[in-house]
This record gives sequence, structure tokens and C-alpha cells, in this order.
Amino acid sequence: MTEAAYDTDNIFAKILRGEIPSQRVYEDEAVVAFMDVMPQGPGHTLVVPKASSRNLLDADPSIFGHLLSVVQKVALAVKKAFGADGVTVMQFNEPASGQTVYHLHVHVIPRFEGIPLKPHTGQMEKPEVLAENAEKIRTALQS
Ligand code: AMP
Repeated sequence: MTEAAYDTDNIFAKILRGEIPSQRVYEDEAVVAFMDVMPQGPGHTLVVPKASSRNLLDADPSIFGHLLSVVQKVALAVKKAFGADGVTVMQFNEPASGQTVYHLHVHVIPRFEGIPLKPHTGQMEKPEVLAENAEKIRTALQS
């Protein structure tokens, strides 16, 4: 089956263009990381390449090396910022897998022994909590 085309008006494309707000924790020439507004745990961060693709399946493989190096950087930072025991890294492709936003992104979620993840796309977090958590991650990224 042919997959749908990339929609330039998807919500992450709008965030990348600065048309809607986000709590950014990292940005370079090719990648942005910002807080997930419906976190599955405190510090849930999304790492997003600036290059347009729906997901991993249609992405240019030349972006993966740098993207994964930023995922590692952010994973180390969230682990440190929240004193986590581990970090879950997840990525979904097409609706059957659970993908809901059709611009490639990688979930980076600090994990704590014995504490399960909250549901995927559950409750909206308060903006002030997202801002506070983003600041912790920015600080950890700088140290
Ligand atoms: P996926 O199901 O992998 O496509 O994940 C999409 C993620 O984007 C979900 O975890 C949502 O909570 C998150 N999300 C949706 N809208 C926004 C937004 N405006 N800013 C940040 N995260 C968002």
C-alpha cells in the first residue's frame, strides 16, 4: 500500500516554523528537541529532525546518524535532570503503530524503577510544569 504524502501543515512542521509555541530544550542546524505536551512521564522530550518526512520509513537515511547522536545527548540530559534510573526511546511509524503526528520524531522518556509509563497521548501537562522541566533539561545539556 502507498503511504500518504507528507503534510506540510502537521503540528510539528508548524512548531519547526515557529507558528505554534513549544518548550524547546535543544536546537542545531538539523534537529530540534522540545517537551511533549502530553508527557508519558516527567521530562518526556521529542527529538525532531528539521528535514521533512512522515516518519522513519520515508526519511533520507543520511539524517539518522546525527539524529541519533542528538537522541543520545537528550537521553543523557533527561536522565541527569530527573535523576532517572533509565531512559525509554520510542519511535512510531504510521497509524497501526500508534503514530499520531506525521513528522518524524523520537520520544525520549526518563524512567524510574517500578513506575509505568502513562498512556500515549493522554493528559495535557500544565504549561508551567513543562517550562520548569524544560529548564532542568537545558541546564543538564549545558553541564
Ligand atoms: P506519536 O504518536 O509518536 O506520533 O507522538 C506524537 C506525540 O506528540 C504525542 O506524544 C503527543 O503528546 C505529542 N504532541 C502532540 N501535539 C504536540 C504539541 N503541540 N507539542 C508537543 N507535543 C505534542
